Amino acid sequence: VKETPKAATTPLITQNGNYIRPAVTPKVDNSSLFDPVPVKSVPTVYASKKVEPPLPPTPKSPPLPPKQPQQPQQKATAPSTSKQSHFLESYTTGLTNLGNSCYMNCVVQCLAATPQLTSFFFPSITESLQDHSYKQHINVNNKLGTQGMLTTSFVELILNMLRNNGKSFSPSKFKKIMGGLSPGGQFATYNQQDCVEFLNFLLDALHEDLNQVSITDPNERKKITELSPEQEKSRETLPPRLASTIEWERYLKLNFSVIVDYFQGQHLSQLKCLQCGFTSTTYNAFSILSLPIPQKLNQSEKVTLQECLREFVATELLDDDNKWYCPQCKKFTRSTKTIAITRLPQVLIVNFNRFKMTSTGGFNKLETFVTYPVNEVLDLTPYWADVGSTVNSTNNMTVEQERELLKSFPTRNQSPPFKYKLFGVANHFGNLTTGHYTSYVYKESDAKKPRNWCYFDDSKVTFNVSPKEVVNKNAYCLFFQRV
Ligand SMILES: [Zn+2]
Repeated sequence: VKETPKAATTPLITQNGNYIRPAVTPKVDNSSLFDPVPVKSVPTVYASKKVEPPLPPTPKSPPLPPKQPQQPQQKATAPSTSKQSHFLESYTTGLTNLGNSCYMNCVVQCLAATPQLTSFFFPSITESLQDHSYKQHINVNNKLGTQGMLTTSFVELILNMLRNNGKSFSPSKFKKIMGGLSPGGQFATYNQQDCVEFLNFLLDALHEDLNQVSITDPNERKKITELSPEQEKSRETLPPRLASTIEWERYLKLNFSVIVDYFQGQHLSQLKCLQCGFTSTTYNAFSILSLPIPQKLNQSEKVTLQECLREFVATELLDDDNKWYCPQCKKFTRSTKTIAITRLPQVLIVNFNRFKMTSTGGFNKLETFVTYPVNEVLDLTPYWADVGSTVNSTNNMTVEQERELLKSFPTRNQSPPFKYKLFGVANHFGNLTTGHYTSYVYKESDAKKPRNWCYFDDSKVTFNVSPKEVVNKNAYCLFFQRV
């Protein structure tokens, strides 16, 4: 291991700690408040095929090179020819059930229909369907990843699905490799599994394999993520748009991959003491937006996705046995907890919390029918914390000041509106011990066959199912594409 001169790491550490304080005068001077590096010039590296993600020259360097030429901001689109992308978006291949492996099949079908992923792994389709350009993005030095084993195996699986268009394929090799790499061999068995747990594991493993940063030393990571109490106090006074943007840039210093770029969002969680007004806010990245299902008096009444979202961002009172320990009052007090969505990704995965732990440690399944738009657009703009928004507390910064300070940061696709279209649904039937998973996936039609919404029940594929059928009470996990 090479020694890195201390001076090289200093700017990275100090720039993380430079929390701005709200300006006392209306005049905003941000010249020295943030990053010494002109971050505005950093392109969204994965937005275009031509711009390769940078490889850090030393493991301790920040992931983004400051001297890249400015690229026009563009929405993430499949960087491929129309004929090729049409094939990637129209192929249909069933997946054999290897014994309770439907939890894996339903997730693979949805991910294999995500254009950002297929065009990243298959930027060009040659005669042999072989293009290994994605391998240059694999970070074999990242101890948190699988040194590319899982990613390579996943790409091989999709490749075999492409080759077996119109037929079915047995994912046994992927299952074996994936199972062996899963924590504690969780997915190595032929037991029933939660498809959301599997999806979380798969996305995380792909992310770490493709993560351009590999800082695994806990102390080094702490230096980047930990704030002093003064810095935390300072952050509490910032409006959510600005604070979450700073936090996202900090997050990217440890996590920079195509998965983060396309799939990950961020939400804030704020605890507020009702006795003294003290607040504590944390910012967390998510790959799957996990939504509660509001319970209605009439259990058979349908609930909308919008109602789940409203429940998710509703302020919760923490009282009685559920009080929060306020660090300022130094005791448990009546408090509130509020969640707000601060970043919405290009590919949004939503899941419904259908499984509730019972007092005996088992799980009950909520069978509530949740409805969601199928061919209509889902507008999430109202749920996104815009400039000028506050969470339960006031800050002494004007909208103009906030806007001015935000100019120092890359937007990273965070400009409204946030409109989405559904392209995949993973369904769960039954309970956790005896259940079944299937999926609905939107596919482009080809000259031979109208496809549209397809139903994947392991190796069996049903074409052109009605959108009415796609909205179903067994929906567990939804895949949306930003439009
Ligand atoms: Zn308090």
